[in-house]
Amino acid sequence: MRFEATELTDAELALQAEVRAFCDVELVPGTYEPGLGMAGSVDPGFSRKLAERGWLGMALPTEYGGGDRTAVDRFVVVEELLRRGAPVGYHWIADRQTGPVISRFGTDEQKERFLPAICRGEVGFSIGMSEPDAGSDLAAVSARAVRADGGWVLNGTKIWTTNAHHNDWMVTLCRTSDTDDRHGGLSQLLVDLRAEGVEVNPIPFLDGSSEFNEVVLSDVFVPDELLLGAEGEGWAQNTSELAFERGGPDRWLSTYIVVEQFLRECEEEDLDGSVVELLGSATARWFGLRNMSLAVARMIDAGDAPAVESALVKEMGTRFEQDVLAALERLVGLEVAPGSESLFERLLAAAVLTGPAFTIRGGTIEILRSVAAKGLRP
Ligand SMILES: Cc1cc2nc3c(=O)[nH]c(=O)nc-3n(C[C@H](O)[C@H](O)[C@H](O)COP(=O)(O)OP(=O)(O)OC[C@H]3O[C@@H](n4cnc5c(N)ncnc54)[C@H](O)[C@@H]3O)c2cc1C
Repeated sequence: MRFEATELTDAELALQAEVRAFCDVELVPGTYEPGLGMAGSVDPGFSRKLAERGWLGMALPTEYGGGDRTAVDRFVVVEELLRRGAPVGYHWIADRQTGPVISRFGTDEQKERFLPAICRGEVGFSIGMSEPDAGSDLAAVSARAVRADGGWVLNGTKIWTTNAHHNDWMVTLCRTSDTDDRHGGLSQLLVDLRAEGVEVNPIPFLDGSSEFNEVVLSDVFVPDELLLGAEGEGWAQNTSELAFERGGPDRWLSTYIVVEQFLRECEEEDLDGSVVELLGSATARWFGLRNMSLAVARMIDAGDAPAVESALVKEMGTRFEQDVLAALERLVGLEVAPGSESLFERLLAAAVLTGPAFTIRGGTIEILRSVAAKGLRP
């Protein structure tokens, strides 16, 4: 495992300035309800505005509507958006991981069909990995597709499927054959969430919001042309997706806006030594994490697959998000107030009620420690 120190270049700083100017115009405080990092609300109109500036599918090939830019350029853009709690929900998964995975493993026909739409912000994707009996132990997935004339018939249940009720497609990990190796016989299918036999049932969060769902698949027909990559290679393809999913700014910025809003709303006399201590310690940890996350983006640009480094960023980043929240809660000592007039209190309530999920979604903290520990072996 290695993290090389790196800084933004002049061109990357210019991009950062451009995104900040865009956000100053499009995300004026008081004109939208900010979200907690990647849990920002779903607003296809906002996604399309980003697309018009070339800020979706940035690292995808220009041939398919992308920008042929770098993972670091994408880092610069998403960092600014997440800091403001921007409504990134519609395009988030497609931009972060589905686009790169289709670009890497998809057929030319799939690339032509999906990548330009992702880059235009016109299509939303969900991740269909977890099942009621397969979470950390993902190789236990039991959703099964069997051969049929011209395609596959898929049955099973996916769970915790973020934004399946808004999205159009789901990359679905399922079993397509039985082998002695439990990582074998798995494939990824691109499933139309509006196809016959797909039922999407919302699962409410403690704060009343419905971000994720159960997706029941009953005899869903998936045509041959929607098999992603090679049959039986689903495990390796799925694993490569996780480097995109774990090492980015979405893993350490979920509570940033809560702190920022606290500072906006608090009185001058509230800014005593304990606030300074909170800010000092959070800033120091944030600085280290940001640099590690930036180093992961540089590794992706260098053609590496930093799965272990990404796991460490997520482990440390999500723990940081929860620690900041706990310190803030201790400091202000508020009862959670989801319907409060104060934006800070609404954000704090959302963070307190959904924060336990930070160290679960995208792989639990225990699993990430295990991945990171294996990577530390000489
Ligand atoms: C907000 C949110 C959004 C999500 N979105 C999606 C999504 O869009 N798509 C999707 O597919 N999934 C999604 N998930 C699911 C998420 O990936 C799983 O919840 C996660 O992988 C854990 O699986 P599980 O819930 O089955 O828990 P389990 O795997 O049952 O784990 C339960 C506990 O046991 C521990 N544990 C399990 N195995 C080990 C081990 N080998 N060593 C040590 N400890 C272990 C875990 O760390 C955990 O604490 C989401 C989850 C959340 C909270």
